[in-house]
Amino acid sequence: MNKAVFLDRDGTIIKNIPYLNDYTKIEYLKGVFKAFDFLKKEGFLLVIVTNQSGIKRGLISLEQLKEINDQIIKDFKACEVDFAGIYFCPHLDEGCECRKPEPGMLLTASKDLDIDLSQSIMIGDSMRDIEAGERAGCKEAFLIEEEGFWESFEETFK
Ligand SMILES: [Mg+2]
Ligand SMILES: [Zn+2]
Repeated sequence: MNKAVFLDRDGTIIKNIPYLNDYTKIEYLKGVFKAFDFLKKEGFLLVIVTNQSGIKRGLISLEQLKEINDQIIKDFKACEVDFAGIYFCPHLDEGCECRKPEPGMLLTASKDLDIDLSQSIMIGDSMRDIEAGERAGCKEAFLIEEEGFWESFEETFK
C-alpha cells in the first residue's frame, strides 16, 4: 500500500484568492516546490483535495477549474514533482460526503490509489482540512498558520 500527503489547494499550495477562476492569477506559497520534492523523496504520494463551492455558486466554471489545476500540475512537473490525484468538491450545502470537513475525498482517493490512511498525512490552512484528515483516520494533520510554513517544513517534519 501507499502512503500519501493530502494537500488542500487554496492557502496551502497557492495563495488563497477566494473563488479563484483565472489560472494566470496563481501564486505559489514560498518553499512549496522544495517541500513537495522532499515529500516525494520520502515516499509519499501527493494528493490534492480541494473544496470548490465556487462551482455550485456559479463563480467558477469546470473549465476554469481544470485550467487552474492543469497549470499547477504543469508547474510542479517542471520540477519533477507529480500529483497522484486531484479531487475537488463542487458542492455547497447539499449534504455531500466530499466537502471538507467530510472525509469523502480522502476516502475515495485511498481506494483509487491504494493508500494506507493510517500512514498518511493531511496538510491544510483551515480547521476543516484538519478535521477531514482526522475523520479519514490519517496519522497526522498539519495546520498552516503562517506564510513561512513550507520553508521550515523539513525541520518541522523530522
Ligand atoms: Mg485552504
Ligand atoms: Zn461534495
